Amino acid sequence: MTTAQPLDVTPSPLALLLLGRAADPASERGVDCPGDLPAPSDPDLVGRARAARERLGSRLFVLGHHYQRDEVIQFADVTGDSFKLAREAAARPEAEYIVFCGVHFMAESADILTNDSQQVILPDLAAGCSMADMATAEQVAEAWDVLTDAGVAGSTVPVTYMNSSADIKAFTGRHGGTVCTSSNARRALTWAFAQAGENGKVLFLPDQHLGRNTALRDLGMAPEDCVVYNPHRPGGGLTPEELRRAKMILWRGHCSVHGRFSLDSVTEVRARIPGVNVLVHPECRQEVVAAADHVGSTEHIIRLLDEAPAGSRWAVGTELNLVRRLAARYAPQGKEIVFLDRTVCFCSTMNRIDLPHLVWALESLADGKVVNRITVDPETAHFARVALDRMLALP
Ligand code: SF4
Repeated sequence: MTTAQPLDVTPSPLALLLLGRAADPASERGVDCPGDLPAPSDPDLVGRARAARERLGSRLFVLGHHYQRDEVIQFADVTGDSFKLAREAAARPEAEYIVFCGVHFMAESADILTNDSQQVILPDLAAGCSMADMATAEQVAEAWDVLTDAGVAGSTVPVTYMNSSADIKAFTGRHGGTVCTSSNARRALTWAFAQAGENGKVLFLPDQHLGRNTALRDLGMAPEDCVVYNPHRPGGGLTPEELRRAKMILWRGHCSVHGRFSLDSVTEVRARIPGVNVLVHPECRQEVVAAADHVGSTEHIIRLLDEAPAGSRWAVGTELNLVRRLAARYAPQGKEIVFLDRTVCFCSTMNRIDLPHLVWALESLADGKVVNRITVDPETAHFARVALDRMLALP
């Protein structure tokens, strides 16, 4: 008879962070709220948020990402995707406090793009992004060494998705690369390959799906042109020869929300709703994107549904808070909008920002106390800005 042995497993720092059981002072995530949160049951939360807003007046500007809860988004001065919001913040130099209802990397980008007198606040420091956390500065530096040893770093241009930490944006800035969004990934990659020259390559961080979908759909590459670099395996799990042959080196990262949609979700919804249009985000897996009728960024999804004719039917593969809001907004116009998957699929870290955290942040600011400020050190901010400026200058 065998006796079960205790498993000798040491959870990684990332796993602990995702489980909310560790602190990460370097990135300010995984920490408890440093103040007294109002009770979620307080019936006056909406009134308190309004009162605090009024006290702050034009000194305050509230940004709300599309994936935020309804209870929070109602207080946003502007809603949008991460890049639109960072630009909106930069366009309001009179606002002393930018309260960012989104996740950590978005607040970092806002801090980089705003002026020194503006302070960016994230109501809950635990609102990270699992995708951004899949590429750390140390892992990417190590990957660059692997590419150098394989003799390909000199012909590789790094491109990082907006959904990455300031450190990774700075890395691309330092190495001649750029940032991209899901709206301009095609232009960014076309630019990067032009910079890389003949037989050049792109290292795409951190979302393998956006990188692969753009390479295959927009740049006409074949699947075998892409390899996946796994930061948890020696040499990324690739041989120097595989690295030399590849055109796209995709980082092994993904979005935990969009990665959940499967080909089965598409097949099932087509059988359930005759004539349905399947509309998905390019962070979805390649087979889901290939089976969809339309693919596009969050802003593209909203625009398409806005322009859709009455009577049309849509199954949308993106975050559930947004899909529910769009379904409610367009139902009176006779547009039927459902969530692509049968199971609930919120972004858990986006959902960390709730009304109690927002009220606490606004009341603290109104009392003259700055809480949960997100700052990026000047050197990192400089090189991240270099990469962001290259994106803004894309042809
Ligand atoms: S939806 Fe995905 S990419 Fe966006 S914040 Fe959540 S985990 Fe990150």
